[in-house]
Amino acid sequence: MLARVNPSVLLAACVSASLVPASPAEWNAQRVPAPGPAQAIGAYSAGCLQGAATLPPSGPGYEVLHLGRNRRYGHPELIAFVERLGRAAKAKKLGLLVVGDLSQPRGGPTPNGHRSHETGLDVDLGYAAPAGLRAGHVSAADRERLAPRPVIDLRTHAATAAWTPKTVKLLATAASDPAVDRIFVNPAIKRMLCEAPTRQEPWVARIRPWWGHHDHFHVRLKCPAGSLGCVAQNPPPDDGCGRSLAWWFSGDAQTTHDNKRQSDEHAGRKVPDACTALLAHPANVATR
Ligand SMILES: [Zn+2]
Repeated sequence: MLARVNPSVLLAACVSASLVPASPAEWNAQRVPAPGPAQAIGAYSAGCLQGAATLPPSGPGYEVLHLGRNRRYGHPELIAFVERLGRAAKAKKLGLLVVGDLSQPRGGPTPNGHRSHETGLDVDLGYAAPAGLRAGHVSAADRERLAPRPVIDLRTHAATAAWTPKTVKLLATAASDPAVDRIFVNPAIKRMLCEAPTRQEPWVARIRPWWGHHDHFHVRLKCPAGSLGCVAQNPPPDDGCGRSLAWWFSGDAQTTHDNKRQSDEHAGRKVPDACTALLAHPANVATR
C-alpha cells in the first residue's frame, strides 16, 4: 500500500534541498578533481578548487602521510611548492619533509580538522619526521599510522628535543619562497624566532602565531596569477614580534580558542556559487 504524502511537504523538501549548500561530507566524497584550467576560487576558508593537481605520495625529499584522508590535491602552484621544498630540504640535509593535508579533489570545506584548506593553496607540513620514516620505503600502514614529532610541549610552551637548528632552516626555506603568503606556527615558535637574531630576517614576518600547530606548520600560498576569483588576505601588518605576540600566552587567548571552537561547530560557511557548480560536474568517477 502506498503511503499518502502531503504534496506541500514534498515540495518543501525539494525546495530546501536545492537551497541547502553542499555539506562538507559531500565535498569530501569527491574523488577526482573538477576538470578545466586550475582556479583557486573564493576565500581560504570558504572556497573551492578547479583543475587540481595531485601530489604523488612520495618524491625527492618528501613523503605524504594519511592518504586515506583524500586530501593530497592542490592548485598546481601548491604541488610545485611542496616538491620544491622537498628538493631543497634534501639538498640542505634538513631531514625528510613530512606532508599532511592539502585540499580535497575539488577543495571545499572538510568534515573535520580544518577551517581552511578549501582553495588548494594550504598545506600542512611536519617540523620533524617521525622516527623510522625512510624515504621511498614507507608501507601503506605506516603512512596512515605515523605522525610528525611535536616540537613544542603545549602545556609548558617549551621546545622539545625534536626542535633543532634544522627546524629553523626548514621554516626559513619555506617562508622565503616567493609563492608563500604566510605560515602558521605555534605561538611559542614565533616567540623563539622573535627572541633570536632571526628577528632581523624578512621571512620572520610571514611566520604567524596560531593555536596548536605544535607538530606541523601550515603554509598558505598567495593567490596565483590567473585565479581571478581567489580572495587574497591582507598582508601581515608588522613582523608580529611586538605586543600582539604576548596576547597568545594570555588567558584571553585560551578563552577565545574555546569560544571559537564552539562557534565553528555551528558555523555554516557559504562558498561562492561557482563552487556549487563545480560539484555538479558529471566527470566525478574515480579512475586509475
Ligand atoms: Zn593546516
